[in-house]
Amino acid sequence: MGRRVSGVLAFAVLVLIAIATAWEQQPHGYRDVATPAGEFSAERALATIREIASRPHPVGTAEHDRVRDHLVGRLRELGLDTDVRYGVGRYPVDPHRAVAVLGQAGNIVARWPGRAATGTIYLVAHYDSVPPGPGANDDGAGVATVLETVRALRASGLRPRNDLVVLLTDAEEVGLLGAEAFASSGGADPRGGVVINHEARGAGGPPMLWRLSHPDAGLISVVTGVPHPNTDSLSTTLGGDQTGSNTDFAALDPHGFRVLDWAFAGRNAYYHNPFDDPDHVDLATVQQFGDNTTAAAREFAARDLRAVADQPDRAYFPLPFGALVVLPLWMVIVAAMASVLLVAWVVWRIRRTEEATIGRTLGAAATALLAVPIGMGVVYGLWTAITAIRPEYRALFVDPYRPQFYGAAVMMACLAVLAAWYALSRRLFGPSATAVGVVCAVTAIGAVVTALSPAAGVMVVIPALAAVAGVVLTFTVPDRLRLPVLTLFLVPAAVFAGGTAYAALQTGIAAAAYLTAPVVLVLGGLFTLTLTHAWPSRRGVLVPVAAVVLTVALAAAGTMVDRFDARHPLMSQLSYALDANSREAQWISTAAPDRWTRKFVESGSPHGAFAQLWTDAAAVGAAPAHDLSGPAAEILSDRTEADLRTVRLRLRSTRGATSVALRYSGQVRSLTVAGRDITPVPAEGVRFYAPPAPGVEVELTAPAGPLTLRAVDYSWLPDAHLADAPADIYYRQDSAVAVFTTIRL
Ligand SMILES: [Zn+2]
Repeated sequence: MGRRVSGVLAFAVLVLIAIATAWEQQPHGYRDVATPAGEFSAERALATIREIASRPHPVGTAEHDRVRDHLVGRLRELGLDTDVRYGVGRYPVDPHRAVAVLGQAGNIVARWPGRAATGTIYLVAHYDSVPPGPGANDDGAGVATVLETVRALRASGLRPRNDLVVLLTDAEEVGLLGAEAFASSGGADPRGGVVINHEARGAGGPPMLWRLSHPDAGLISVVTGVPHPNTDSLSTTLGGDQTGSNTDFAALDPHGFRVLDWAFAGRNAYYHNPFDDPDHVDLATVQQFGDNTTAAAREFAARDLRAVADQPDRAYFPLPFGALVVLPLWMVIVAAMASVLLVAWVVWRIRRTEEATIGRTLGAAATALLAVPIGMGVVYGLWTAITAIRPEYRALFVDPYRPQFYGAAVMMACLAVLAAWYALSRRLFGPSATAVGVVCAVTAIGAVVTALSPAAGVMVVIPALAAVAGVVLTFTVPDRLRLPVLTLFLVPAAVFAGGTAYAALQTGIAAAAYLTAPVVLVLGGLFTLTLTHAWPSRRGVLVPVAAVVLTVALAAAGTMVDRFDARHPLMSQLSYALDANSREAQWISTAAPDRWTRKFVESGSPHGAFAQLWTDAAAVGAAPAHDLSGPAAEILSDRTEADLRTVRLRLRSTRGATSVALRYSGQVRSLTVAGRDITPVPAEGVRFYAPPAPGVEVELTAPAGPLTLRAVDYSWLPDAHLADAPADIYYRQDSAVAVFTTIRL
């Protein structure tokens, strides 16, 4: 076999290993209803999803209360001591926001007492949905996974050492209110409280452990024992910085719970969508979810939970077939230093044999480093160009319905940049300098990331160390073994690339520039080591040209294949706002007008009170004044003492709206809502979800003098039938009918 053919073959083998790793990570198959009672069955879980997620069930609706009561009944049937614990929750993220978000939440708490508890293990999922969709995945799949797990564990005869609590949280979608109410009213079990949280940001793909409490060694040691430990310490390090990406983690972790935050994010066009229904649940995904939770719950049920928080952070990465390798952080640092020393030796060695000068090698390394941001920019530009051709995409939460061609175009764009760099570097610096240069570049990236965070660095350091070790070995083995040895030592790069690049792409094409592109460019860059004697030196430039043509063709195919229709509706945002005092009404959208909302709004901003209440409006239009009654604010007391005026009032919707708000401008010094003291005092007001029928009590203190307040209530726009959308349009969750009254005191 010629050197050219064998080099291309070695490259192809690495690509195939990457693809096989990505495939292996995806969920395959599920257990049906005939599965023995002691095991988790996704098909049994689906029955629960059908019971609770056939219709939307957001907070404050009758369907929400039906789902709650149904779940309480199911948990009692399982033999658990179950009740609904009510409390007032507050959105825990960003306490300085202008309008605080609170609400009445009814968390379902079901207890399974342990034999000799060292703490409590909480199985958590939220049972509310957004208004536009039935929430079969988000978070019906999580709730059903928890119920089926507990059923299987009880049927298997488990007698847990620790207390096990099923916590189905309420009002997650409107601001993690249930979890926050639960955590702030008692906090974690002081002996040790471990949470397995179940979330969805899509309708398929592998459940990933994308965030967890630190220090994490105690938690990770349990994750090593689950069948599908889809996690790595680079992802969880990045996930930990995603404070804006909200799950109940953000409510529970600050209160001392030790949280494992699991979520699946494939097929995410169905996120918060009318077709997030039981027919769009992937049973293989639910099976992985359940198999993991069942295994982790068994292990936590038996452990001494007091020790879970004691050990420091770890670095970890998955291998195919359910393995998770866990390393102490010092080992990553040592590996990074070893790779730097080895690569320095290689540079010295090829200089001595006059294969390449140091200058050429460093030149190749510098261009390889530069290719990473260039590739990220190209992928960013590709998606920007696609959204310019299809502007409807700008309204999407995450991906379009058929993202496959776009995903392939992203991968091809990365390969085009890689091939262009490789062709250029070979021409400028020669093949040997290019090969060693790319190893230098990846080693340098690994060392820098490790210096910032060893846990994150492990995902680069391990493949870099293996690659440089392979290069070192090529100097010692006979010529015919050089390529096989090198290819073998590039397998870690292929496994890591396959395990992370596709999973990252699944979470959303819009983020591919930041997540997928660097993985493909850095780890895929190492694959080029096999091409040293295989690259067509004269016509090499044709490879990147072909890749560019393919990228454009794939992107074009995507725009043709992906169309919106009644089964694949496009999202719109529109609100109807009525001033109950003046009877003036406006259509308001926080998004640019689209082909549907254009009938109601045009670009511009509202005026007067409308402008104060909708600071993020992007489009506005005149609307007819419908016969809707405004919210009531009954003044309970009003007194002025020592330059401070304290007003106590009861705020109530007179039309059964699902949330009410009190807005003010000026210096409010203190604010109490439904018995909760709100500090720091929000600058503009407070919004309260699921208010009890008699109303919400608010007490505020402001400087003495006149006071202008606005009471607002919000209901779901489609319920009012003021602007019924065509079948291929659905309304975003914040599309509301809002009625407000001005109160001058
Ligand atoms: Zn959710």
